[in-house]
Amino acid sequence: MNSPIRKSHKLDNVCYDIRGPVLDHAKRLEDEGHRILKLNIGNPAPFGFEAPEEILQDVMRNLPTAQGYCDSKGLYSARKAIMQECQRKGIPGVGIEDIYVGNGVSELIVMAMQALLDDGDEVLIPAPDYPLWTAATNLSSGRAVHYLCNEDDDWAPDLADVRDKITARTKAIVLINPNNPTGAVYPPAVVKELLAIARQHGLVVFSDEIYDKILYDGVEHVSTGALAEDDQLVVTMNGLSKSYRCAGFRSGWMILSGGQGKQNAEDFIQGLTMLASMRLCANVPAQHAIQTGLGGYQSINDLILPGGRLLAQRNVVYEKLNAIPGVSCVKPKGALYAFPRLDPEVYPIRDDAQMVLDLLLQERILLVQGTAFNWPDPDHVRIVTLPWADQLGDAMDRFARFLSRYRQ
Ligand code: PLP
Repeated sequence: MNSPIRKSHKLDNVCYDIRGPVLDHAKRLEDEGHRILKLNIGNPAPFGFEAPEEILQDVMRNLPTAQGYCDSKGLYSARKAIMQECQRKGIPGVGIEDIYVGNGVSELIVMAMQALLDDGDEVLIPAPDYPLWTAATNLSSGRAVHYLCNEDDDWAPDLADVRDKITARTKAIVLINPNNPTGAVYPPAVVKELLAIARQHGLVVFSDEIYDKILYDGVEHVSTGALAEDDQLVVTMNGLSKSYRCAGFRSGWMILSGGQGKQNAEDFIQGLTMLASMRLCANVPAQHAIQTGLGGYQSINDLILPGGRLLAQRNVVYEKLNAIPGVSCVKPKGALYAFPRLDPEVYPIRDDAQMVLDLLLQERILLVQGTAFNWPDPDHVRIVTLPWADQLGDAMDRFARFLSRYRQ
């Protein structure tokens, strides 16, 4: 018998539990004919959210001319539209060469970490986080160091904790704003303070803004790149998956800003460009959606303003959660998630993955445990707010029923 084939040690500290082992149980239940309510993945399409028709038309019309590879950084028309979006968002000095289109933000996160990190280099990443940032850092032989976000302060980053965790090895800091999983939208003053800390220590700033158009209660989003000084390199990530509801197209982009910051980072940027060339280019048909998406009718607004479906869904989840004894949820101001706390005095959960599995088995509802987002304690879960409000209301009632059996 041949010796077993093992995965590489590069994967020793890599973990992505949003699609983790509980999902296998859910698949088994589905194979047995059970219907599962999947509140585990922020994928709008299965919940009846369709991409704007004009985007679909544009992609279909351009399909015949999208057969070849394109420039490694992306189609000119797409990058031009992203450049104009930078102007709208007040991110200064972004030219066409400062924009890289990728197969979703996911590919670009991995690419950026591969280009930046040497063994043991540290990246400050929020806790809770969108765990790809941690996984990509560890995969790239770096070390993810988590700074806490403060639930009592609307989940804003704890600046003292950020300062405490900076070492001689810290190379970058990640902001996720609007945040997955907490739904926080950071006030510009907080972002400015983070930028000041980053500048003081010469850190690259990565700003994941993929939910920048999914905002509730009149909150405004200000891009990190619009607040930074010229001598700071800010790498902004965004894409079509959420605001334009076409996650399956796999289309995202990365923007480099900061005039002097870019000059100082020439070598890193060369590395990025080389990695972009190595994978030839991003999916070309999907890039045709970018110009129409960014420049067209912003139908996302119909979903988040009063009377809009996404807002109604956020409201139901928020209200129902806070009515459950021992459960509290900060009101999400953006994105597609709620991240409630289950008071450990009331719910003595030692293993939150097991709790999520129990919920699946008992109520056929699939959530993701808080520790999957690198939250240190087993006292949170993430709930996706994409299904219709009545379905979510029913799911929250079933969650409450389940929790009543889990109490001390
Ligand atoms: N960044 C955040 C914060 C996300 O929540 C997600 C997906 O859920 C991504 C990036 C990945 O986006 P994409 O579909 O563009 O790869």
